[in-house]
Amino acid sequence: MNALASFTPIIQASYFIAAGLFILGLKAMSSPVTARGGIVWAGVGMLLATLATFLTLGLHNIGLMLVAIAVGTVLAWWSGKTVKMTDMPQMIAIYNGMGGGAAAAIAAVEFVRYAHGEAHTPLVASLAALGALIGAVSFSGSCVAYAKLQGLMKKTFRLPAQNSVNILLSLATVGLGIAVVVGQPANLTLVLAFFVLALLLGAIITLPIGGADMPVVISLFNAFTGLAVGLEGFVLGNPALMIAGVVVGAAGTLLTQLMAKAMNRPISNIMFVPINAGGEGEGEAVTGSMRALSALDAAAVMRYAQKVIIVPGYGMAVAHAQHKVWEMASLLEEAGVEVKFAIHPVAGRMPGHMNVLLAEAGVPYEKIFDLEEINAEFGTADVALVIGANDVVNPAARTNKSSPIYGMPILNADFAQNVIVVKRGQGTGYSGIENALFYGENTRMLYGNAQPVVGEVIQHIKAMG
Ligand code: NDP
Repeated sequence: MNALASFTPIIQASYFIAAGLFILGLKAMSSPVTARGGIVWAGVGMLLATLATFLTLGLHNIGLMLVAIAVGTVLAWWSGKTVKMTDMPQMIAIYNGMGGGAAAAIAAVEFVRYAHGEAHTPLVASLAALGALIGAVSFSGSCVAYAKLQGLMKKTFRLPAQNSVNILLSLATVGLGIAVVVGQPANLTLVLAFFVLALLLGAIITLPIGGADMPVVISLFNAFTGLAVGLEGFVLGNPALMIAGVVVGAAGTLLTQLMAKAMNRPISNIMFVPINAGGEGEGEAVTGSMRALSALDAAAVMRYAQKVIIVPGYGMAVAHAQHKVWEMASLLEEAGVEVKFAIHPVAGRMPGHMNVLLAEAGVPYEKIFDLEEINAEFGTADVALVIGANDVVNPAARTNKSSPIYGMPILNADFAQNVIVVKRGQGTGYSGIENALFYGENTRMLYGNAQPVVGEVIQHIKAMG
């Protein structure tokens, strides 16, 4: 008996411990207070599972595996260290896609083995094919999402009869998958065609999606990747992959449902029948002029207000203004003003983006409110201070059917008595459309980079005593 055979119980036990660590890590990630620890726990689980794999009986290509791990480690370390906070969403999208791609690659290797006559059951082959399909769609779809978030792809692309193409391509891919599974031994040409179609499907589905639907899609691909990894875990009989995949798949599915609900869009609409052009519409032209106010006036309006609701958005993240914003809010509170923070579910460029930034700045959780908790309160606020947010406060989402964000619930900043908007100039938001809020009777623009501008407001509030 090979000496490594005696390690089998140790490997299995390690995989279960690793899976337990993944679950505990994920649980810890559900609160910003414990999230850092959660990432470390999950990382330790991954390390344990990787080390245990090297004890597997009959392992080949150990040299190649070590090189791949070394390259991956260096790249991940370097990108983790250097990525800007504002580039996090695309990094998450691409890493997520890699997971899907890896699951599809596992399936590809299995099919090559089946083609060379290796024994397998129809159930295992079906699971491998399903995992391959979902993983490949997640990989190519996430690559397109990355290109959009990175600004490499500025426009959304819609094919003529896009929905029919989506459906036909899906049917053809599933048909090929079935042919690959029932073929004994598997036909390598069919296998190749199956993978090409699955990759094409992911890209074609994602190309027309834009504007407000992007966050939901990223989250959906995250769920897909988890599911694909879980399915390949069954194929390989690897409990760590099975449990980690199922946990990620379930968590991703729940997040996708929450995001889709927040956007008021059924997931099927986002993937197959976007209500509108999904970012192609320009929305109605907005007329009128924007009126500026000075940092001094902004400070005075807020210092003598009773209630201020702060709406942070992507621009606050770009400007790293969260610490200054909290400093300003604390000064206002010391002066007796009630201050609350209103967070839109898709503010920024990743789920929970604003929550993470505000938590980092030390804003207490009880001052942070979700859309449905706070929306009714804007009518009673003296000031809505919009800092680097745009799409999430655009009233076109309520009324303008041609707008790419039509139907998305927005924060009702325009219902406040006064609206102060901090932004640098005429820049549009992610969806690329004009915002009538900025032209409103009760709106004043405080132009500038959010961090220095809020710093100026702070100085004026301090001077007011
Ligand atoms: P937006 O992208 O709509 O608007 C950001 C605004 O910030 C811009 O109008 C810009 O105007 C301003 N800005 C940029 N830099 C600065 C700066 N340094 N100082 C001050 N202002 C600045 O942000 P929102 O958060 O309102 O909306 C998020 C959008 O992103 C939604 O459309 C959402 O669907 C999409 N999205 C969200 C994801 C998520 O998971 N949360 C993922 C992918 C997309 P100006 O240039 O004039 O300064």
